[in-house]
Amino acid sequence: MEKITDYFGSLVFDDRVMKATLSADVYNSLKKTIDEGANLDLGVANSVAAAMKDWAISKGATHFTHWFQPLTGITAEKHDSFITPAPDGSVIMDFSGKELIKGEPDASSFPSGGLRATFEARGYTAWDPTSYAFIKGKTLCIPTAFCSYGGEALDKKTPLLRSMEALNRQALRILRLFGNTTAKYVRSSVGPEQEYFLITKEMYDQRPDLRFTGRTLFGAMPPKGQQMDDHYFGAIKPKVAEYMEDLNHELWQHGILAKTEHNEVAPAQHEMAPIYTTTNVATDHNQLTMELMQTVAKRHGLVCLLHEKPFAGVNGSGKHNNWSISTDDGINLLSPGETPYENAQFLLFLCAVIKAVDDYQDLLRIAVATAANDHRLGANEAPPAVVSIFLGDELSGVLEAIEHDSPYEGVEKTKIKLGVSVLPRFNRDTTDRNRTSPFAFTGNKFEFRMLGSSNSIACTNIMLNSAVAESLRVYADRLEKAENFEAALHEMIQKTIKDHKRIIFNGNGYDDAWIKEATEVRGLLNYKTTPDALPHLLDQKNVDMLMQHKIYTEAEIRSRYEITLENYCKTVVIEANTMRDIARMQILPAVERFATDLAAAAMTKKQMDPSLECAYETQTVRKLSALTDGIAMKTQELELALLKLADAADITEESVMIRDSVLDKMSELRMVCDEAEVLTAKDYWPFPKYGDLLFGVG
Ligand code: ADP
Ligand code: MG
Repeated sequence: MEKITDYFGSLVFDDRVMKATLSADVYNSLKKTIDEGANLDLGVANSVAAAMKDWAISKGATHFTHWFQPLTGITAEKHDSFITPAPDGSVIMDFSGKELIKGEPDASSFPSGGLRATFEARGYTAWDPTSYAFIKGKTLCIPTAFCSYGGEALDKKTPLLRSMEALNRQALRILRLFGNTTAKYVRSSVGPEQEYFLITKEMYDQRPDLRFTGRTLFGAMPPKGQQMDDHYFGAIKPKVAEYMEDLNHELWQHGILAKTEHNEVAPAQHEMAPIYTTTNVATDHNQLTMELMQTVAKRHGLVCLLHEKPFAGVNGSGKHNNWSISTDDGINLLSPGETPYENAQFLLFLCAVIKAVDDYQDLLRIAVATAANDHRLGANEAPPAVVSIFLGDELSGVLEAIEHDSPYEGVEKTKIKLGVSVLPRFNRDTTDRNRTSPFAFTGNKFEFRMLGSSNSIACTNIMLNSAVAESLRVYADRLEKAENFEAALHEMIQKTIKDHKRIIFNGNGYDDAWIKEATEVRGLLNYKTTPDALPHLLDQKNVDMLMQHKIYTEAEIRSRYEITLENYCKTVVIEANTMRDIARMQILPAVERFATDLAAAAMTKKQMDPSLECAYETQTVRKLSALTDGIAMKTQELELALLKLADAADITEESVMIRDSVLDKMSELRMVCDEAEVLTAKDYWPFPKYGDLLFGVG
């Protein structure tokens, strides 16, 4: 048996390989670039490239690629082989520092949201040395940022790195004010829990809806769904266990810290969580994880569904973004400390998050907005579309005491004055588990639970890092000028609590009464759908904040707006077209066949014995006939709704038309088809049913 400790990271050009293959000088300057963002000179790049190439070839690689994350949400790669012709007709394997640092893919087919006219097709990719290169198949993958020639970010990595830089800048200002002179940098870390479904490849291939859209567009509920709650944390079936084992092996080889795996709530649903790491790396790892989940599944005759709502009637899949901020010397700034000063610092960072989440609720909602995720949010299986924070009773009690300058009725009765008296030590376990909160404090980190399973975590963390950087900036501006630091600190924490306590909610987030209170009493935002949420990306306060921290230029923000709405529209239109085709070309003929056979059976029986009633046949044929008329009519209505989209003046209007008409027509069509399904004999139904799909993996 291969030992994990022996092969972990064997496909990664990580620190161990760098140390072993680079000269001390080269290693040190590369390390300086990785840790402190220092510029890298070409000489160093040449040496790194040569070492990378030799290492990659020794692992069987023949090609290299700049691996990047365009705005499609998935990763892109264009492979180049290492071969270079030699004068004598042979080839040598070559890879230069220039090729490592910069690539120039023809970028014209990637969405740019108006950032780059097609005649300026060129874009460039730039090496991100903070994320290790790795081998996938026979290709050396170099994580890169992707920009237009004008320098605008065409990807998700660039703004993510900028947001980490912004957070670093502002958090360091705060730490210096608290007398910390040693921290070199502050970084956010993320541990994303990834949910997914596994179904058999054989059944997947028979469902055009799954193949074209990643989700089922039709399907009546089987007698058993998730009612019994017997799948969650249940014993893992052998075939799934084999898959997980193989997946872990792949992930570990790629240096991904796969840690936990278990069955989720819905049948056929599972989860994998890695150990958290630096946000940028966690993002690359999560993209690679999603890709490997799918490739490994194929090897096992399975398909891994990452769609947010592959099946109606059972839970969809999300991704929990566990987020914290810490210093290079390992201090978690969201961990309550031991001393009054540490606790005051903790409270300030806590307040920064509270203020950020309240001020930028809309940006957090926007970061997870897709057509697919709209199915989950607020459907009693995932948090509502209203953003709120869960703090737990103890921490909420502390904040309340600070707000009113009243004694804290916790473990030790102390009047809380920051930096003077000792704050009560918070017991981590009392920040107990509230699974219904979109944004929960879980002891030393926040868990943001609104992400969809296929979302890139980049978007969420860009917004989170930037919004918290903005709170910290406001605090630092004030504190740096303060004559009495402690008084100013106290006053500011108190003000944050007063101004932003509306965002704190410790109750059941799935409760309708909460949504009413949140929106009507507290004035929190409730953007139920992507077209409701997206326009607010362009709100002045959001544009100002994102520009002030240099996360995006105005043009870049606009491009994200366009692309997100375009994706929304394209996704739904593809689904609608797929529905129309399936209804007309598969469901209607199948139901007709069954009805005709039933009618023929009744006739035959009556010929044999005219006194037979044939009530089952007659009634079913009647019902089916009404249903086929209904299906035909609903298909036509859907088609008309789609045709109307041509009248939309722009993408904003189109998205609203889709929200208000196409989606309704789709659910109406589905409803009649699902009704017909339960009246039709299984042999006639044109594709595998929910029961087969959900319980089909042996
Ligand atoms: P649960 O399902 O109870 O939320 P999991 O173990 O499935 O817990 O996932 C928790 C995730 O949080 C893991 O990815 C873990 O590495 C991550 N995590 C733990 N501590 C931190 C931290 N300080 N910062 C960021 N992520 C963290
Ligand atoms: Mg969790």
